[in-house]
Amino acid sequence: MNKKPNEMTIVEAASTLRSKELKVSDLWDACSEAVKTKNPKLNAYLEIFDADNAAITAAQKRVDAGDESLLCGIPLAIKDNILIEGKIASAASKMLANYRATYDATVIKKLKDAGALFLGRTNMDEFAMGSSTEHSAFGATKNPHDISRVPGGSSGGSAAAVAAHLAIAALGSDTGGSIRQPAAHCGIVGLKPTYGAVSRSGLIAMGSSLDQIGPLAKTVEDTRILYDAIRGIDALDATTIPDGLYGAPPPAGGPRNLRIGIPQHLLKEVIDADMRAAFDATLDVLARHGHTLVDIELPMSVYALAAYYIIMPAEVSTNLARLDGMRYGLATRGRMLLDDYVLSRTEGFGEETRRRILLGTFVLSSGYIDAYYRKADAVRIVLRREYDAAFSKVDVIAFPTTPSPAFMFGEKSDPLSMYLGDIFTVTANLTGMPAISVPMGYVERGGEKLPIGIHFTAPHQAEDALFAIGEAVEKTNNN
Ligand code: GLN
Repeated sequence: MNKKPNEMTIVEAASTLRSKELKVSDLWDACSEAVKTKNPKLNAYLEIFDADNAAITAAQKRVDAGDESLLCGIPLAIKDNILIEGKIASAASKMLANYRATYDATVIKKLKDAGALFLGRTNMDEFAMGSSTEHSAFGATKNPHDISRVPGGSSGGSAAAVAAHLAIAALGSDTGGSIRQPAAHCGIVGLKPTYGAVSRSGLIAMGSSLDQIGPLAKTVEDTRILYDAIRGIDALDATTIPDGLYGAPPPAGGPRNLRIGIPQHLLKEVIDADMRAAFDATLDVLARHGHTLVDIELPMSVYALAAYYIIMPAEVSTNLARLDGMRYGLATRGRMLLDDYVLSRTEGFGEETRRRILLGTFVLSSGYIDAYYRKADAVRIVLRREYDAAFSKVDVIAFPTTPSPAFMFGEKSDPLSMYLGDIFTVTANLTGMPAISVPMGYVERGGEKLPIGIHFTAPHQAEDALFAIGEAVEKTNNN
């Protein structure tokens, strides 16, 4: 292999470990060296962990004994809102800057059982609110393809780490696009699983009915490996679902011909011309490879973004109410109890977080809850029906992941222009359906080649269809 160990995929690293060309400690050292050299420039990691020699030795023993877990000995990056026992989990907020997790998130427990290693915790928008990682209380992460641009968000640290080979793969969380959008901006693959497929136990909540943890990786195959390792019903999260809840899964794996739905009416005017051209070209190649393109209509989808920006802040405002300066998190004392709350929450939360708490409190308040929250919740049901109906005709629905490539720092400083970038990703969170972003080439901005992504949504629990179409797209990129 000519690749450096840190540049390998999970599959490549696992096979090199098994052929004994590489030891687990070599792989760890290569990743950890790369992190130490490049992180000061990128700020992908908020904290770099020391080598856990016991875990490295244990992983090596398992590999030597012929253990089949492909994640055994693989160094991963973990978003800073996923708890690892004994480590700080700050959600990139001053509020939780010193909060140390007292237990492992279920996904971490599963990864530890699989023998995976953890390189550190990655930067993000505060409490996962944003699309650029500029809302981190600890400085923005830079896009490895052009450091004057954002990596996307909110899982920008995880995406930049994988793209810059500062981790073999990573975990992020996705409430309205936070895995898929940074994956697209950094040129890697990102999956938002079906709601309930992956346990949220130990994830610092943003919008509980929308949040899912998922993988960011260099290939679709790696994405599937990580997804298989973290998924499954969990007694600690009552919203997790058993396999087959939504009916028999489609036939697994293998190349197959899929019907791809394209909602042309939603794509007009909102997408940069060269992104649109790349999207059309990718679909053309898929059609030439035997997949079928089908025009579909999703008339209610125009309301998805508005519904998301009501439901999400409503849930944010209730979830973050627990951070009151009393139980845990930053505590600033004033003259009276009310001062304690006000001072702690004003100092602890950044501007975007405060904006969403205010919006959420407003849409839930008496007199407005019917006009805003309940109406948005009704839109959610209608959207789900609309998508269910579309899936009687197609296997997956395609969009570009974002309307534009990665933007410059500060370019979207008014909140609304940032929110508009979520137009193609939020619906999967509102309906609970799984969705993937896969690289579909590059566009040029200011002399730099910037990666872009194609996005597919599938019916509940049909992740296999996403992996199949994702691998088909990877083939179109390679020839
Ligand atoms: N960009 C979206 C937002 O700002 C999505 C965030 C997320 O998925 N966590 O809300």
